This record gives sequence, C-alpha cells and structure tokens, in this order.
Amino acid sequence: MANQFKGVIEQLNKTCALMGIESGELEILRKPDRVMEVSLPILMDDGKIKVFDGYRVQYNNILGPYKGGLRFHPKVNLDEVKALAFWMTIKCAVADIPYGGSKGGVAVDVKKLSPGELERLTRAYTRGFADFIGPYKDVPAPDVYTNPQIMAWLMDEYSHIKGENTPAVVTGKPVEIGGSLGRDTATSLGGFFVLEQVLKKLKLAKNKASLAVQGFGNVGMNFAAIAYRAGYKIVAVSDSRGGIYDKKGLNIEQILAHKQATGSVVNFKGAANVTNEALLELPVEVLAPAALENVINGKNAGRIKAKIILELANGPTAPEAEAKLLKKGVLVVPDVLVNSGGVIVSYFEWVQNLRHYYWEKEKVEANLEKQLANAFRKVWQTMVAQGNREMRTAAYMVAVERIVKALKVRGI
Ligand code: NAD
Repeated sequence: MANQFKGVIEQLNKTCALMGIESGELEILRKPDRVMEVSLPILMDDGKIKVFDGYRVQYNNILGPYKGGLRFHPKVNLDEVKALAFWMTIKCAVADIPYGGSKGGVAVDVKKLSPGELERLTRAYTRGFADFIGPYKDVPAPDVYTNPQIMAWLMDEYSHIKGENTPAVVTGKPVEIGGSLGRDTATSLGGFFVLEQVLKKLKLAKNKASLAVQGFGNVGMNFAAIAYRAGYKIVAVSDSRGGIYDKKGLNIEQILAHKQATGSVVNFKGAANVTNEALLELPVEVLAPAALENVINGKNAGRIKAKIILELANGPTAPEAEAKLLKKGVLVVPDVLVNSGGVIVSYFEWVQNLRHYYWEKEKVEANLEKQLANAFRKVWQTMVAQGNREMRTAAYMVAVERIVKALKVRGI
C-alpha cells in the first residue's frame, strides 16, 4: 500500500508535538537506521531461474537488538516494510521489552511455490542478510505467510553460515529446535487479554460483546478460537476467499474443522456467505481485523458500526479512517498494543534460547498476561490524562517517551 510510511510519520509528528519532543530527536525517529534490498535468484522446480526482491529495514535499536517479522506476500514493498519496522519499534517500547524494531519481506505469492522452492527462497533470504541479522543484532520472526517451518530453515541456514548452532537468531521456531511453548498462540492470546481489559474499562459484559474477525490465519483463527472457548459470541469470520456470518453466533470449533477440510471458512452450513468488505460493516460491538493493512479506510469508515476496533493486524485502520471513527466515538485499540503478545513471547523465546533453559507453557502465558496488563495500564492512564479516546496516540506517547529517554542517556 503506497504511502503507508507517510501516514506513520504523520502519527509520529503528532505524538512528538503533543509531547514537546525536540526536533533533533524527532529527526532521528523519522528515519530508519538502515534500509536494505537484495535480489534473490531461485532455481525453480522446472529448471528456470526466478529472481525475487527481498527487503530488511532496521528502524531503531536504541532499546535493544532490532526485532521484526518476515513477510512473504506479493504486495510487499519497501514503503510497507518501513512502516512495519517503525511499528515494531513502537510496539517493543510500548510492551517494555528490550528490543528495537525492524521488519523484512519478500514480494512473492507463496501459494505458487512448491515446498522446495519456498525453502530455497528462505535460505537465499538468510544468506542475503546473514551479516546483518543475529541474536544481538536483528532477530526475525514469522509474519504474514511465513511460519515456524520457515523460521527453522532460516535458523538452520544461519547456523551453517556462522558455524555454530544459533537458535536465538530467530523466534517463532518449532519447539523441537528451541521455540517457546505458547508462541504459536501468543499474538492471539495477547489480543484476547487486551480485549478483556478494554471491556472491563468500558463496563461491557462479554455476553453483550459480539465479535467479527477478519482473517483466519495464525492470528485471526487462534483469536476466534480463544474468544469462543471463553464464551464470546463470534458472529463473523473470514479468510482471503470471503467470510461467513450468523448473527446468532458461529460454532468456531466446527469452523476450524470446516477450514481444515475445505481450505476456507466460506460455504459453512447454516451461515450466510459475506464478502470481506461487508464483514467490516456488520452491526457488532467489536470488530477485529486480523489480515492486512488499510482495510478500514476513508471509503468505508463512515459505514463501520462496531464500537470497538481491536487491531490484531498491523495497520488495519488508515489514518483518515481513524479520524472519522474517533469522531463517531469508536474506540480504536491500536495494533502496537493489541498484537504485541507475539513479540512479547518472542522475547521470552529469545531469553530461553540464550539461557538454554526452557519454561512451561503456564509460565509463558502468565508472564505474557502480566507484561500486557502493565502495558495496557500505562497506555490507558496516558490516554485518560490526555482527556480523550485516542488510544493510539497514547501508546505512541508511552513508546516515544521510553525511546527518547534512552536516546538522551546514551547520547548520539
Ligand atoms: P497469516 O498468513 O497466518 O494469515 C493471514 C490471514 O489473512 C489468512 O487467513 C488469509 O486468508 C487472510 N487474508 C489474506 N488476504 C486477505 C484479504 N484480502 N482479505 C481478508 N483476509 C485476507 O498471517 P498472520 O500471522 O495471522 O498475520 C495477520 C496479521 O497479524 C498481519 O497484519 C500481521 O502483521 C499481524 N501480526 C501477526 C503476528 C504473528 O505472530 N503472526 C504478530 C503481530 C502481528
């Protein structure tokens, strides 16, 4: 999505103006530390060579090593990766974990690759950036259309290049090679913890809070399952092929089986098929976008009926849409808080790798809840002190304060 980074910088400018941040510090935050682009030639199964574009943006590491996912998607471009790397910087600072922010991506449609081609692409990406990633430099993780298997190939390739077993170079790995228990559901569970905190603040009972979830991948699917099992009514879910809606509530367990069997949530018996666009405009209390950026934009913001937007995806609400939603009194709970469970448990995974000492799932989840409760409290207090409902601005203020304090004590 073009100009995404511009929107990000506008939000940063606004935050810094509110906080009276000096222009020199703002100037540092307005630019990524390092922007990298590599060509990745891959031998395809048919014997032909194809060249893919790979990116890594290291935004800021003042609080710790760069940290950020790796996205494989046909629309990946440098502007998007820069925006995502910025958000990681803010997210880690809001969560109060000792990381900076980065992001990587490859412009590719993984559905058109064989497993062998996907592995060769991942290994080529790792070789392309091997000098720039590492446990104390920059630690990738899964994102859209990347998964634990891809992280395992990355870890393996990096370990071969460096000549030593290096699990801490990447998080979101399979448990067998140093992944953390609970990492696969951490983003969704974190989003669920945030939802519960929000409802508590708004004094909204869970049986009054109907939910629509867009995206049924790692984040959306696990979130829907967790919320459903906790007794929430989920009336709509969707994936890239479309969505389904039943105002009486969907049986998510059965939908998991249906998706497993058919590859999609659509055509689920007893529910109506809806488009991804229509799903966003359903009459629900909570709308949880868990797919791609800018799905809530200037065009459809006026038609959104949800009272709470729970941003499980990164950047699902375009700035012009957010302004309209805030005017209508919608609470936009920002991505940098809602989906930070993933990077928080990634941090726990990295700690476990560096210590060679592994935690039980209960410990991982209890620590996640504690870390998120603290982050939520700080953001909510900051918002209340501002006297408005601009939760994203409050989250940015929390993050920028921590980053700027570190900048000041470290010096330039
Ligand atoms: P995923 O690849 O597992 O799932 C993406 C889902 O979106 C799939 O169900 C896909 O069918 C659906 N989708 C694709 N195009 C769509 C479209 N045009 N309309 C509607 N749905 C569409 O990815 P994920 O890991 O679940 O990530 C989803 C979002 O959450 C992304 O914004 C990602 O950056 C963010 N996020 C993920 C993590 C994580 O730990 N995986 C952490 C933080 C943030």
